[in-house]
Amino acid sequence: MSKEKQFVKEITPQSEDFSRWYIDAISKAELMSYSPVRGCVVLRPDGYEIWEHIQRELDRRFKETGHRNAYFPLFIPESFFQKEKEHVEGFNPELPWVTEAGGEKLEERLAIRPTSETMIGHMYSNWINSYRDLPVLINQWANVVRWEKRTLPFLRTTEFLWQEGHTAHEDEADARKETMQMLEVYRDFAENFLAIPVIMGQKTPSEKFAGAVDTYSIEAMMKDGKAVQAGTSHYLGTNFAQAFDIKYLDRDNQQQFVHTTSWGVSTRLIGALIMVHGDDRGLALPPKVAPTQAVVIPIGPPKTRDQVVPRAEEMFFELKRAGIRVKIDDNPDQSPGWKFNEYEMRGVPVRIEFGPRDMENGQAVLVSRVSGEKRPVKLDAIVEEVRKMLDDVHQTMYSNAKSFLESNFKIVDTIDEMKSFLDAQRGFVLTGWCGSEACEKQVKEETGATSRNIPFEPAERKSACVVCGSKAEHTVVFGKSY
Ligand code: AMP
Repeated sequence: MSKEKQFVKEITPQSEDFSRWYIDAISKAELMSYSPVRGCVVLRPDGYEIWEHIQRELDRRFKETGHRNAYFPLFIPESFFQKEKEHVEGFNPELPWVTEAGGEKLEERLAIRPTSETMIGHMYSNWINSYRDLPVLINQWANVVRWEKRTLPFLRTTEFLWQEGHTAHEDEADARKETMQMLEVYRDFAENFLAIPVIMGQKTPSEKFAGAVDTYSIEAMMKDGKAVQAGTSHYLGTNFAQAFDIKYLDRDNQQQFVHTTSWGVSTRLIGALIMVHGDDRGLALPPKVAPTQAVVIPIGPPKTRDQVVPRAEEMFFELKRAGIRVKIDDNPDQSPGWKFNEYEMRGVPVRIEFGPRDMENGQAVLVSRVSGEKRPVKLDAIVEEVRKMLDDVHQTMYSNAKSFLESNFKIVDTIDEMKSFLDAQRGFVLTGWCGSEACEKQVKEETGATSRNIPFEPAERKSACVVCGSKAEHTVVFGKSY
């Protein structure tokens, strides 16, 4: 991409072209740059720091639920992929291969991992011998590569950063409990950390992970009404245990296959939070992941700078000491108006305006990025007040996103209703499905929407299939997706 294209002057309004808005917003805020390799992006410091906050919090939650981190190699021998039939069929088209290294042709091709079930399965078969070795609860933070045809920064890239949990259990009940527990960790994290409301449910068989018995997901709605699969948790049954011979001696001295799970979220979450919360002014970052949570901007005529700036600096240090990620911008060469726009564009949740009159009154003015509310607060309570506004910004973001999801969600009975809703408006539909792949496919052909998941808590249960009219086995959420 040319220099000119990476430099955005004005952010395209969302209503004019949402995709253009997205690229403009993330480029102008310097979250990422395109790399010379198609589909790969560079995470610039502000983009990478959002990932670090996501990582830190999830890591804490994984450890709290008993998991430990390990690291497995990037290269996977070709023969490993041949062992699980569905897995190889699902991933083969997306695998990049290393065929030559050190100037020699390799005896066996090595895939660059798209996910690590096979490598980890191989290792678990060595590590697990008895029921006393179970459960194994391991997570890996890594990069993976999937040669995707369509790519979009963060949401779908060729190489991406993620975590993949891989656990092994004595029986189905224990493995299923783990699968659900981690899905719940993702839901709670999305809602309470990223302020993204999600729909939790089970994937239909055609959308499940290659090699899984059951796949569960959390699905989020972007501001253009499209869906993003924000996280997945899989119950793998004994499929990988059989393929990799992961057996253990049970309490009755019998050989048994372990039951495994895997679960993951990726840098896709960064794309999701931008598309859920951003607006025509640019990014709006949820306070818990924002690299800068508050920015102090001294204001007022130049002659008052000598008094105002030192007091603003004191406030900055007080907030910093309290653990708030704060910045001060006292650059005399830029007007306050310019700075207000700049930090709004970068998505900083709280702006702190401080001028000579505020100083006289012993106060500062907090301004919320999402509601625009201006709140004068006492200087001697600045830390609590900023914390309180950060909480309020999170709550406002969550409730705005929740209202958006609810108002762009329609329960339908016929394919025509579905079509006209998706054509005229944006959003998700909830409807009945008989369970046949043919009907699911027809929905896609006629409306462009795919099944997102079978929600655990549908707003209503349907009795007839939206396509063929026969008995509905499931009530499903459909939507166009990224
Ligand atoms: P999976 O192993 O296919 O279940 O993927 C786990 C999670 O990784 C998904 O729920 C997505 O959030 C994310 N993901 C999958 N493919 C990509 C991609 N190409 N780029 C970014 N994130 C991805």
